[in-house]
Amino acid sequence: MSRYFSGRFAALTPYVPGEQPQDMQYVKLNTNESPFPPPQVVLDAVSGESACLQLYSDPDGRKLREKLSVRFGVSPEQLILGNGSDEILYFAFMAFADDTHPIAMPDISYGFYPVLCSLLNLPNERIPLREDLSLAVEDYCGLGKTVVIANPNAPTGLALSRKEIERIVASNPEHVVIVDEAYVDFGAESALPLVDRYDNLLVVQTFSKSRSLAGARLGFAVGNAALIADLNTLRCSINPYNVNRMSLAAGLASVENDEYNLANCRTIMENRAWTREQLAKRGFQVPDSRANFLFAKSPAAGGEALYKSLKERGVLVRHFGQERIRDYIRITVGSADQMEVLLKKIDEILEEAST
Ligand SMILES: *Cc1c(COP(=O)(O)O)cnc(C)c1O
Repeated sequence: MSRYFSGRFAALTPYVPGEQPQDMQYVKLNTNESPFPPPQVVLDAVSGESACLQLYSDPDGRKLREKLSVRFGVSPEQLILGNGSDEILYFAFMAFADDTHPIAMPDISYGFYPVLCSLLNLPNERIPLREDLSLAVEDYCGLGKTVVIANPNAPTGLALSRKEIERIVASNPEHVVIVDEAYVDFGAESALPLVDRYDNLLVVQTFSKSRSLAGARLGFAVGNAALIADLNTLRCSINPYNVNRMSLAAGLASVENDEYNLANCRTIMENRAWTREQLAKRGFQVPDSRANFLFAKSPAAGGEALYKSLKERGVLVRHFGQERIRDYIRITVGSADQMEVLLKKIDEILEEAST
């Protein structure tokens, strides 16, 4: 730390993203990216747009917001775009929480939330998940706090139904409920159909996971127009051109070809079911994931040991040091070939451990 760094941030521990090795020597199952590249139309849209890089991007992202608004049956005023959904979460925490509106979130969830609380100096409560890592809806009803929930949750993959989300939203009318749906396209129920009925619901989604555009950094949120206006006040005070031209073009082409994305999601769900079954055969405990990853605990090998042994064998997965989940590894569901390599390596490791 330099002697110039503001004391406000002296205690800030930044978020640690999953490893991004720059040589492609790994079967990369650690950051929940899609194994499928974007379709050719998206690549063409990006390269066409790159010819206009001397010009700023549209600060309103109007074309993409209009396209998304039709896709989801809302008005463009109910939609905001972000440089990844992480940026929208940042705006939302800043906008809808403070000393009198503390944040409540599960003890096991996306690691970026506590970092944002620390960055913005927001009081926050971590509500323990049940023993089986499921979220107890009643813990969030009538809470009187700004609620942040990932649905499906990360890194467990477990999801709440729309009805359960609605109970939480309806019982906290004085506070915003932020539902982070980064993984919703892999088989969970979106809360999007509720946004017209609840002015305190903000639904956040991303192009990173189900639409093969993690590198484009493109996310969006849908909610009541007044909530979105608040987020725009902050966005335009921080980074009005927050989404670059090429990502706007990529997003537009991607939504126009959403069948491609949905077909890939179906493939991932099939591969998920197969992999979960295979892991269960080998004695792993694996919650019923609705996301593009599996959270798996082996009776024979600890989480960190498994992570390391897999890495030595060229397969990258994610391990978290947090006490309650340190026996688990989180495995991104990739292509069928990748899943076969993973299981082959797991078999080698378990075999070695038992001799
Ligand atoms: C990946 C992820 C995000 C961030 O996505 P970006 O749009 O790439 O910033 C947000 N929330 C959760 C729970 C995630 O896993």
